[in-house]
Amino acid sequence: MPTKSLKVVIVGGSIAGLLLANALARQEIDFVVLEARSEAAPCDGAGLCLLSSGARILDQLGIFEDIQYHGGPISVQRIWRDDGKLLGHTEGLALITARYVTTTR
Ligand SMILES: Cc1cc2nc3c(=O)[nH]c(=O)nc-3n(C[C@H](O)[C@H](O)[C@H](O)COP(=O)(O)OP(=O)(O)OC[C@H]3O[C@@H](n4cnc5c(N)ncnc54)[C@H](O)[C@@H]3O)c2cc1C
Repeated sequence: MPTKSLKVVIVGGSIAGLLLANALARQEIDFVVLEARSEAAPCDGAGLCLLSSGARILDQLGIFEDIQYHGGPISVQRIWRDDGKLLGHTEGLALITARYVTTTR
């Protein structure tokens, strides 16, 4: 059966684009990542916050346990304004861990 060569063009070299590149590389599918900025995935975030849907994808790629080892569950969330006024407080995130996290370190 004739085979066609496939090359995937990924537009954007941030977390979604690089995760897709990782998945394609594992399947030996050719790809190119196009990134408008001078640097792919610059370290300009406060942290990496994963919900259960993202964690499931990382688990399918076999890298969730490594990431889980370097992080921890969020149980309390507080949001402040830049003048220090507390806008909100919730402990509801602990429910996500209680309901969805089945593995422990
Ligand atoms: C203010 C703010 C704070 C946040 N803080 C956090 C946090 O602390 N923790 C957390 O987990 N999440 C945080 N998020 C959410 C997080 O940034 C996004 O969920 C995540 O970046 C989405 O990833 P992405 O790869 O889908 O898109 P993006 O990160 O938006 O990446 C898109 C990439 O595509 C590139 N691009 C766009 N158009 C083109 C083009 N035409 N050609 C080539 N390249 C192109 C862009 O330059 C960019 O690099 C925050 C979001 C905001 C707005």
